[in-house]
Amino acid sequence: MAKQQFEAESKRLLDLMINSIYSKREVFLRELISNASDAIDKMYYRALTDDSINFNPNDYYIRIDLDKEKRQLTVSDTGVGMNKEELESNLGVIAKSGSLTFKKENEIKDGHDIIGQFGVGFYAAFMVADQVTVRSKALGEDQAYQWHSEGADGFTIVPIDKETVGTEISLIIKENSEEEDDFDQFLDPNQLQTIVKTYSDFIRYPIKMELSEQKLKEGTEDDYETVIEDKTINSMVPIWKKNKDELTEEDYHQFYQEKHYGFDTPLDYIHTSVDGNVRYQAILYIPESAPYNYYSADFEKGLELYSNGVLIMNKAPELLPDYFSFVKGLVDSEDLSLNISREMLQHDRQLKLIEKNLTRKIKQALLKMLRNDREKYEKFYTAFGRQLKFGVYNDFGQNKETLKDLLLFYSSTEKKLVSLAEYVERMKEDQETIYYATGETNTKIERLPQTEMVQEKGFEILYLTDDIDEFAIKMLAEYEGKTFKSVSSGDLDLEDESNDETEQVSDEDQKLFDKMKEILNGKVTDVRRSKRLKSHPVCLTNEGDISIEMEKVLSMMPDNQGIQANKVLEINTKHDIFQSLKDIFAQDQEKIEQYTNILYNQALLIEGLPIEDPLSYTNDIWEVLK
Ligand code: ADP
Ligand code: MG
Repeated sequence: MAKQQFEAESKRLLDLMINSIYSKREVFLRELISNASDAIDKMYYRALTDDSINFNPNDYYIRIDLDKEKRQLTVSDTGVGMNKEELESNLGVIAKSGSLTFKKENEIKDGHDIIGQFGVGFYAAFMVADQVTVRSKALGEDQAYQWHSEGADGFTIVPIDKETVGTEISLIIKENSEEEDDFDQFLDPNQLQTIVKTYSDFIRYPIKMELSEQKLKEGTEDDYETVIEDKTINSMVPIWKKNKDELTEEDYHQFYQEKHYGFDTPLDYIHTSVDGNVRYQAILYIPESAPYNYYSADFEKGLELYSNGVLIMNKAPELLPDYFSFVKGLVDSEDLSLNISREMLQHDRQLKLIEKNLTRKIKQALLKMLRNDREKYEKFYTAFGRQLKFGVYNDFGQNKETLKDLLLFYSSTEKKLVSLAEYVERMKEDQETIYYATGETNTKIERLPQTEMVQEKGFEILYLTDDIDEFAIKMLAEYEGKTFKSVSSGDLDLEDESNDETEQVSDEDQKLFDKMKEILNGKVTDVRRSKRLKSHPVCLTNEGDISIEMEKVLSMMPDNQGIQANKVLEINTKHDIFQSLKDIFAQDQEKIEQYTNILYNQALLIEGLPIEDPLSYTNDIWEVLK
């Protein structure tokens, strides 16, 4: 029998195929099953247009059979089958897709369910097999044929006996070798079941396989026997194709567990089906807790991507913006243009559109949670609020509008997390700005000298305790026309009525301030009388864009460029200490240096900043204590 050669390019392609198109060998099974499903679809389509064929759903299925001795794996179907010419042209020319021709001939529009379109999937079989045999009988033909190939040097076609219409594809699975030892798994029913579940769970026809199970012997209570039975291993109808009102919260939660999206119970889910420019269904989850590596570089965002019930990608990062990277779930779209291996997408215009829609949906769901279930939202915010704040700051603030209403900060007056909208609504009539204070913890902030005045005036202060907070706030710049102001900023502009504002700083005091500034030698940009201090003698504030808190954060970054805040040492001229300072200034030039350094270092300590020279600080104190 003469061996036919694959077409010239096909030979090279076959090589390429076997070695490089697919990233994982196991996808060969997905390709064979998808072809089988296509063939049954074609049968169904024929039945629709030809009255002499009746399509009884029970007669249509896909089978997987194993013969371990022969190392043989067979995938068979009851689809349309192939005649001699079809075997020759569909399987003899790589990159010729019979399914694509079928679609064209039958004028099936894009989006019809047939999966094939590239004409390479079949050859994936050679990634795992030394020999491939296809036995097929086409609908409406008397003679069946067998196609056989052992790789790149060609194939043979011979007539055979086969009663039923359909196709059987048998692979002789490669032997494990020292370098490659994962072939045996394709002869293990449990492994195969897992592969089918992973990639082909939602193929619409039953995929059957003989599986053994331990069962109680009839009439006994503890006597088990091994029963071998045909089982359908795919679940066929994907949950996302079902109607929302057929499903309960329980169903969605169970699906979350089955998919191993997380060990937690999701706080919320979104199930959406869109019939617009791009058609797709999606199920998305908002998890309750962050995975252990969420805030590290190891974390990979992404949704599962299906095309027509067949898994294409485990994690398609294009489907989620970074600031919603915590969302889990999947998207199934029949309109995607996939590339040859189905593992990459041809171009991402459709994905961009889907991402945009999903982002809107996620935001809506979160806002709704914030409105209707505060406790739940706070749980969410504890886990993922940081990511939202990063989102405000990143990409030069281009997403801040999307995110600003999702932010919460602790409030000095409410003693709980509040949204910016809630703050603004409570603002006093004469209040121009949204006040905030930064620090490590709420209690530490509460005791900061800088908050005293603002608090006493009865203004609400937002406490920023996360290192990203102030960066995000600066990026926001304003909320509903109200700007943000740190209680530590140099231009707080809050007059204290008890201070006589008209009172000029006396020449004498100014001389003292100048002297102190000189002593501090560049560490502060100014020393001046404070308008905000009440009970504390000194504090540090800042001028310019970089705050003291930001300096702290930046100094911890690996490539920090020594960026520093412009600090101002403010002195409470009403405080007893100021009187002592004045006295010493008049008497003892050396001591004033010690006092200045001590006060400056104490102000640093209150801010949680490191003291540059702890030893001379303690020496200074000892001197004074003497
Ligand atoms: P594609 O599915 O992208 O068209 P494949 O390489 O997977 O490419 O398959 C090539 C062609 O071979 C299919 O288009 C189809 O016409 C035919 N074919 C493959 N498997 C079967 C099958 N089980 N039953 C009928 N035809 C098949
Ligand atoms: Mg195919």
